[in-house]
Amino acid sequence: MTATALRHDWSLQEAQALFNLPFNDLLFRAQSVHREHFDPNEVQVSTLLSIKTGACPEDCKYCPQSGHYNTGLEKEKLLEIEKVVAEARAAKQKGASRFCMGAAWRSPAKKDMPYVLDMVQQVKSLGLETCMTLGMLKEEEAKELAEAGLDYYNHNLDTSEKYYNHIITTRTYQDRLDTLDNVRKAGMKVCCGGILGMGEDEDDRVGLLVQLANLPQHPESVPVNMLVKVKGTPLEDVEDLEPFDFIRMIAVARIMMPASHVRLSAGREQMNEQMQSLCFLAGANSIFYGEKLLTTSNPEADADMQLFRKLGIRPEQREQCATEEQQEEELAEAVEYEATRHMFYDASRESA
Ligand code: SF4
Repeated sequence: MTATALRHDWSLQEAQALFNLPFNDLLFRAQSVHREHFDPNEVQVSTLLSIKTGACPEDCKYCPQSGHYNTGLEKEKLLEIEKVVAEARAAKQKGASRFCMGAAWRSPAKKDMPYVLDMVQQVKSLGLETCMTLGMLKEEEAKELAEAGLDYYNHNLDTSEKYYNHIITTRTYQDRLDTLDNVRKAGMKVCCGGILGMGEDEDDRVGLLVQLANLPQHPESVPVNMLVKVKGTPLEDVEDLEPFDFIRMIAVARIMMPASHVRLSAGREQMNEQMQSLCFLAGANSIFYGEKLLTTSNPEADADMQLFRKLGIRPEQREQCATEEQQEEELAEAVEYEATRHMFYDASRESA
C-alpha cells in the first residue's frame, strides 16, 4: 500500500470539510490513513516529570501553574539533578524509553541553563531518549540543549492564532512559532499541539490543525489536550466540550499529519473507556501514563493496563518477543513504581 503523502499546503476549507464529514466516514478515513503509517494496535507510552512547579510569570488562562491565579498549587524550586536522574533511572528500569521533563518557566534563565544541560546529559547517558518543555527558547539555547543530547522539545501552540489572545497575553503566537523554528534549526524533534474546550469554536480547532500541518515539517508528536478545569483559573467555569468534537479533532489531526504520533494528553481522566477507544480508532497512538500529568491528575495507571488488555493494544517500543503476560507484568511493575512517586502536584485535587 502506498502511504498517503505528507502535505504542508492545507487550506482552511479542506480542513473544515474533513471536520464536516459524517462521523463514520471521518473515522474510517482516519483509521485507513493510520494503518498506512503505524501498527493500529500499538500505542506509545510516555511519562512526565515536573522539574520545577508553579509561580510561572505567564498568564495562560488554563494553567494552575501560572503565578497570576490563586489555585492553591504548592510551588517547588528546580529539582536537584540527582533526584531527576534517580527518577529517570527508575523509569528506565521499569521499561521507559523516553523521559520527559517540564519546568514552569517563561524561558530558561541564564543561571539555570548549566543545570538543565547537565540534567539532559545525565539522563541521556542512562540510554534514555530525552524530552523537555521549558518555555520559549532562543536559537542559542536550543543549540545548547541539542548539543547536550536533548531529543525532543515540547512547545504547544495551544489554539488558533485568532483565538490565542483570549488565552494568553504575555507572549505572542509569533513567539511560539519562533521557538519552534529555533528547535528545528537546532536539529531537535518537535512535540507541539493544543488544548480543546477553552471556549474556542470549530474554526479555531481547524485553524490550529492547519497551522500545525503547514509547518515546514510536521511535529513528530502532536498532543491533543482536553481542558482540565482548575478552580482559581479564569477557565474554571467554561462550558464543557462535546466529546464527539474532541474525537473529530483527533481524526482530522491523524489525516492531516499521517506520520506523527497523535497523543491523548491532559483531560484523559474525564474520558470513559469508550471515548478513549474511539480516540484510538480515530488515530490517537500515544498517551501519558501514570498517576499524574504535570499538575493535573491522570487516570490510574492500572486502568490503562486494563483498557489496553480489553482492546488488544500493546505499548509501543516494547520487546517484540515479549508475551502478553510479560507486557502485563512490566506494566504492573510500572504501576507500582508510579504509585510510589511523590514528585508531581495534583492541582485539581488540591483546589477542589
Ligand atoms: S502553560 Fe506553561 S507557560 Fe503557561 S502558565 Fe503554565 S507553566 Fe507557565
